[in-house]
Amino acid sequence: MASAIAHAIEVRSPADRRVVGTIPVLGAERVQSLAAELRAAQPAWEALGPDGRAKVLLRWADWLMDNERRLSELVQSESGKAWNDASFETTVSVEIINFYTKHAAEWLAPRDVPASGPAGVAKKRTLRFRPYPLVGVITPWNGPIGAPAMDIVPALMAGAAVLSKPSEIAPLSWAECVRGWREDVGGPPVLGVATGDGATGAAVVDAVDMVMFTGSTRTGRAVAARAGERLVPCSLELGGKDAMVVLADADLERAATAATWGGMMNSGQLCISVERVYVEAPVYEDFVAKVTGKVAALRQGTDAPGMFACEIGALATPAQVDIVERHVNDALERGAKATTGGHRSQSGLYFEPTVLRDVDHGMACMREETFGPTLPVMRVADETEAIRLANDSTYGLSASVWSRDAARARRVAEQLEAGSVNINNVLMHLFQFTLPQGGWKQSGVGSRLGGAGGMLKYCRPQALVSERFALGPEPFWYPVSPRKARLIARGSRLLGAHDWRRRLGLRPRA
Ligand code: NDP
Repeated sequence: MASAIAHAIEVRSPADRRVVGTIPVLGAERVQSLAAELRAAQPAWEALGPDGRAKVLLRWADWLMDNERRLSELVQSESGKAWNDASFETTVSVEIINFYTKHAAEWLAPRDVPASGPAGVAKKRTLRFRPYPLVGVITPWNGPIGAPAMDIVPALMAGAAVLSKPSEIAPLSWAECVRGWREDVGGPPVLGVATGDGATGAAVVDAVDMVMFTGSTRTGRAVAARAGERLVPCSLELGGKDAMVVLADADLERAATAATWGGMMNSGQLCISVERVYVEAPVYEDFVAKVTGKVAALRQGTDAPGMFACEIGALATPAQVDIVERHVNDALERGAKATTGGHRSQSGLYFEPTVLRDVDHGMACMREETFGPTLPVMRVADETEAIRLANDSTYGLSASVWSRDAARARRVAEQLEAGSVNINNVLMHLFQFTLPQGGWKQSGVGSRLGGAGGMLKYCRPQALVSERFALGPEPFWYPVSPRKARLIARGSRLLGAHDWRRRLGLRPRA
């Protein structure tokens, strides 16, 4: 259908900028026809039931594992990730499939619910869930397989068909996963991929019944506006500026190791990366020294498949390198110091893993999302100042608190304005699939994953009400009469009042 393909995009390796693939850019017309094909296949998919759908998804999980190395190579070629990060994509996807296939039947089962009061005793109430027929899943480039998998798995298990839209920056590995679903696994045509650019993403929003969007706050706002015009629901996972609060009684060795991993994993290109660190004054110098040593020891590069020889890979785009460089230079010009790193590389899209000390809250590195391998570390007087500064952000995705005193850590955690807070750890909430993960403030609307809610958000609840007994007409039905009205009023008082005098229609004693 060449006429509906606007043009093609070359995908380049961030490591050496060679072209590693080409994708068609689907125009709005092709997106609509793809959506129609998926819709046509959805009823049979829903009718399979959770157990039938789980069988297909588990076959796909086997396929992901059997093709793990090939898929990780594809991820690496288009994202420039270190092998360690690239190979994580299929691992987390299989975990998600296992989780939702295990619980879907229980969570989707229709359930009887109790009456809200005595007036409802004659009724039977059943809550059941029907999927949105077609869900659009739009994802960014930083987790080419893991990010779409997090959303498409619960949507498919809910019984929806899914039209996915990966980023034009790294679409190859996800397109291959969808091809594998159709051609190798023999999955029904309920999973589609619309490759292309931002306009293709906008066309997906126009074609579906519910949108799950992960990406920048700016684009999320545009998606929400369009979904609002169409009156279709959307769930948004957006940017973050996650704070790490290190109190003076923390295990500094563990905190510094965690900051290094949490700030540098995936070259800092995670929405939940540690983006800023607040350290109580008595342990500031010690923490900076430890974290500097650990970050300086990191090996950077896009290592050969299977080598596990580098911790940090490339950044995904030239624009991303520019943002990191701007944040670092802004900090240095305003008086911060780089204790390690601080520069972009001469070739490839790399930026040295960087620790910045003596930063303050006027600097871009403390206020804007960096999405790169930097750790700005700020000295704070006490926990009150740490909480105030951590909350002084438009974002509220996740955070962490470090202290040996469990009660103190909990007290601080509960005051942080973030959808998830780790105590004495970083990023770990992402792997607790039984908990909701949603951003507060400008980090999101709704939540991703998270037990039953993470799947039921792809469903429309349906309330069924039926009669327990064969009765005559309801008291409210026509015709109205003074006698009937008096009886209803008496009955309402008897059931609704909170003291006996009112129940009997008497005035309360003064
Ligand atoms: P974008 O918001 O630019 O893009 C995200 C996705 O939306 C891409 O597939 C993009 O396509 C698509 N898109 C672009 N314009 C539109 C539109 N008008 N309508 C619908 N879809 C559109 O984010 P990035 O790709 O730059 O991703 C990086 C950002 O994502 C980070 O800054 C971070 O804030 C955020 N992020 C959040 C995560 C979270 O879970 N909260 C996880 C990871 C990233 P295309 O790329 O082809 O233009």
